[in-house]
Parts: sequence; structure tokens; C-alpha cells
Amino acid sequence: MADTIVASLDLVVTHCCQCGLIMVLPADYQKRRRQDHKLFYCLNGHSQGYFGQTREEKLQEELNQTKEKLQRKIQCCEIKAQAIKQAEARFNGMKGAYNKLKKKKEMEEGT
Ligand SMILES: [Zn+2]
Repeated sequence: MADTIVASLDLVVTHCCQCGLIMVLPADYQKRRRQDHKLFYCLNGHSQGYFGQTREEKLQEELNQTKEKLQRKIQCCEIKAQAIKQAEARFNGMKGAYNKLKKKKEMEEGT
């Protein structure tokens, strides 16, 4: 009586990018190589790897760029808000000086 082993494996069929040898990789192994970009070898010794960005890496890069854009817009708004405050302060100063002169003139005309 022969022993029987029943197993479920998640495998991926791919090929060597240099010699075309068919390779069967555990799906988890392929996933890790895509994430860590480390080299692996076909049976003929050809090195290869997945060097393109993963979906997660692309999304992270996009997120970082969006954060940088947002930060620049926040800084721009802060600079504009500061300029508005300075303009308001100058306006209030000029308004006070105008009112003083107006009162002085009214007093001179009144007497
Ligand atoms: Zn090969």
C-alpha cells in the first residue's frame, strides 16, 4: 500500500527572463521577491528579480507626493495669512493717524 500525501500549494508558473526555462515558484516566494526586490536564480543560474515598484510602493510614493503638495499649499496659505495680518495692521495704523488728523482739523475749524 502506497502512502498518499495530499497537499494544497499555491504555485506560480513563470519563466527565466534570460533562457526562458519554465519555473514554478511558491506564490508567497514570488510575492516576497516582488516586495524585497532580491535576486533569485533559474536552474541554469541566471539571476533575475522584480525591480519595478509594487502597487504598495507606487501608492506610498503617490501618498508622499500628495503630502508634500499639501504641505506646500499649507505653507503658502500661512504666508498669505501673515501678509493679510500685516496689511490689516498697516491699515489700522493709517486709519488711527487719519482719525487723529481729522479730529485735529475739526478742532481747529471749530475754534
Ligand atoms: Zn535562465
